[in-house]
Amino acid sequence: QLKGKTAIVTGSNSGIGLGIARELARAGADVVLNSFTDRDEDHALAQEIADAHGVGARYIAADLSDGDAARGLIEAAGRCDILVNNAGIQHVAPIDEFPAAKWEAIIAINLTSAFHTTAAALPMMRKAGWGRVINIASAHGLTASPYKGAYVAAKHGIVGFTKVTALETAREPITANAICPGYVLTPLVEAQIPDTMQKYGMDREEVIEKVMLERQPSKEFATTEQLGGTAVFLCSDAAAQITGTTISVDGGWTAL
Ligand code: NAD
Repeated sequence: QLKGKTAIVTGSNSGIGLGIARELARAGADVVLNSFTDRDEDHALAQEIADAHGVGARYIAADLSDGDAARGLIEAAGRCDILVNNAGIQHVAPIDEFPAAKWEAIIAINLTSAFHTTAAALPMMRKAGWGRVINIASAHGLTASPYKGAYVAAKHGIVGFTKVTALETAREPITANAICPGYVLTPLVEAQIPDTMQKYGMDREEVIEKVMLERQPSKEFATTEQLGGTAVFLCSDAAAQITGTTISVDGGWTAL
């Protein structure tokens, strides 16, 4: 149902971004994959998606910690009907030990890049007469956890920016929403396990059960396919009046 639309998914050579790109392609959209890595396997992923779903798929490298590069990604794609701001990093440390450079990097990649991509994409959406902005926030865009100061600040920030984007486009056939996942077992989450093990003096299984899924009443990780399906829904006609809000895919986390 998304035939003829072009979706740009930032940070999409792994995890949730890749899952969303795959589901948008399955729904017929041409997709642009992105990361800063520019490896052969990144380009191969785009080819694999093109072959699997009979859509156009390209990989465009851009380091989203750089605002000009973020705008450059949208310009290089040349068209953007669906913008999924997904690139994100994490660092876990108490505030008084939090490295300033990590704070800056998290705010730049998880929050500021979405300002730059959205600014570059909105004129293209207006020209095409249709658009969807989908920001991948987090349950941490609505709640907090200790040791995740930069991440929680960035994710609350992107929820606020989503609302502003929705208000500025409210009279146009463009919507802006944030998806708030709970825990999804992706490389980003995998990378937090050693630090969290150390912080709480727990082994891997305990961290998964007692720390990560402790907040997730379903006691199950959400999947990248489910996040992709949620993005496809937000692109559907049924979602045309859904704007400026958040959709939690968190196994009940934010109901607690
Ligand atoms: P991931 O590490 O698998 O993917 C992160 C993506 O961002 C990768 O494609 C990576 O290449 C890209 N990226 C990182 N730095 C970049 C940069 N400077 N420039 C361009 N791309 C860059 O992680 P994920 O779990 O799939 O996370 C994706 C998004 O979902 C993030 O915004 C994350 O905060 C959010 N999220 C994840 C979870 C979870 O449990 N995994 C939960 C809530 C929200």
